[in-house]
Amino acid sequence: MGDYRLGDDLDDYCVKCKRLTNHSILAIVGGEPAKVRCRTCYNEQAYRRCEVPPTKRELKKAELFRQVLASTGAPEAAAAPPGGNGEPAGTVAAKPKARKS
Ligand SMILES: [Zn+2]
Repeated sequence: MGDYRLGDDLDDYCVKCKRLTNHSILAIVGGEPAKVRCRTCYNEQAYRRCEVPPTKRELKKAELFRQVLASTGAPEAAAAPPGGNGEPAGTVAAKPKARKS
């Protein structure tokens, strides 16, 4: 890694194609691709490191999550990532242990 050259191909997320496509490197900054061009639609964009931007639905979900947090004021829940695994808090401690009598 880190051996990028102008014109090299790499996979990245295209905001126009809305999927991972082949991209050509247009600019390199600090040994990292800075600007790439989608080889499918020729859209030029900043290199995203294949990161898929959150959808509107995910943004809405995160916003709802923040509102719930604000209303309940639960500080420990603030560390949980938005849109988590759906497991209610407290189930981790409910794991059965070997009985000692
Ligand atoms: Zn594209």
